[in-house]
Amino acid sequence: MNKCLRFTIKILSATLMLAFAFAATITYSLAYELPEYVKVGLRYGITAVNLAAIETDQGLQFGTLERETFTLISDLKGAKSISAKIQDGKLVISDANDTILEQVEANVVCCLIASNSADGGIIRFNNVPYRGSIVLRQDSAGKITVINRLGLEDYLYGVLHQEMSQSNPLEALKAQAIAARSFTTIRMGAHSKEGFDVCPNTHCQVYKGYGGEYPKTNQAVDETRNLLMYCDGALVQAYYHKNSGGHTENSENVWFAALPYLRGVSDPYSPIYPWSANFTADSIQSLLTAGGYNTGVVQAININERTEADGVLSLEIKGEQGNVKLEKEKIRSILGATVIKSLNFQVIKPSEQSISLQGASQSESNSGEITILSSDGTMNQVAIGDVYVSNGKETNRLQDGQASPSGFTFSGFGYGHRLGMSQDGAIAMANQGIGYEDILKFYYANIEIK
Ligand SMILES: [Zn+2]
Repeated sequence: MNKCLRFTIKILSATLMLAFAFAATITYSLAYELPEYVKVGLRYGITAVNLAAIETDQGLQFGTLERETFTLISDLKGAKSISAKIQDGKLVISDANDTILEQVEANVVCCLIASNSADGGIIRFNNVPYRGSIVLRQDSAGKITVINRLGLEDYLYGVLHQEMSQSNPLEALKAQAIAARSFTTIRMGAHSKEGFDVCPNTHCQVYKGYGGEYPKTNQAVDETRNLLMYCDGALVQAYYHKNSGGHTENSENVWFAALPYLRGVSDPYSPIYPWSANFTADSIQSLLTAGGYNTGVVQAININERTEADGVLSLEIKGEQGNVKLEKEKIRSILGATVIKSLNFQVIKPSEQSISLQGASQSESNSGEITILSSDGTMNQVAIGDVYVSNGKETNRLQDGQASPSGFTFSGFGYGHRLGMSQDGAIAMANQGIGYEDILKFYYANIEIK
């Protein structure tokens, strides 16, 4: 049994596993048919609303939604602008004059569709335009969860530019469209407990509705319509990130089990993306405390283990009252994933921030500048932070000693979890004339696009 198959079986439902026991010929991709509709939670939980204002240009159809089946109730007397609120435990729909048009019991899920939706009619919720329909359901706190329900391709129109700007080359956008479509298809139901499939934030994918669409990103969706990535018949969990920092990572070195298509590759396409972050010992201690770890005053930070792709596997933080070992992405989730931009980093204490080059005498970095002697004999003064030193395998940025005296500097390359496609790399490949299929096959191993 190959790796993909093994993984797929793990995540298949118990029902399908049972079916498998009796019907060995079943195909696994059946579990991942393209969804007809995607339900995006617009307002839910603490953002659920007391009042939802809904408008169209040509009127509405009002009905119920039960198990994905829409049942028409009325056209709301031709009203183009309505409001929904909870009153006496019921969800009440009123027109602009506050005349009640419909009211339904708490457990009924309502659905509003633009009467001209078949012709691309747009529906607006709180003045933001959306394709498809707006679904309203009363939550346990007596507020309204607002959901946008629309076709998969229509949903991708509203996602693509948010995940990769429409100013980028078409082939990169097409690669992004297929990655986003595969990611969505496998993520359906991620928020099922809240009554929808995906949220509109980075937790799933950023979605801005009709107002977030552009002709070029829509073209990229259209030109890859229905295409997904598979590995041995199983749909690919198409994780992507901003910049690989020169090497992507194996999935097991970041989060979880080894996936046969999320293998680290040396990435010459992603432009150099250096970052650094300074922490005081106090701020690290506070972050650890917030994460449930008690180290007391932080005294030392050591990298215990690295991956072949230079990712930190294990970081040990030593404190007066105890030591903590953080592994893989836990490091970024505790210290801040937007600050520790990737796991390809090193940690420098200010006292260690001197320059050491093989074959050269050591010099302290007090001035913030360094003199570079080139092979032709010319000498140049440059800021230390602009100097990179490479031994052919890894590239490090020289530090300028600006850290707090009692703190630590984290310095690294790349942005994101470094799994699957590097968006910056995909853009660079497209700029070199490489097509979307080759871009995807470079970042995801052993895949088929169909
Ligand atoms: Zn989400």
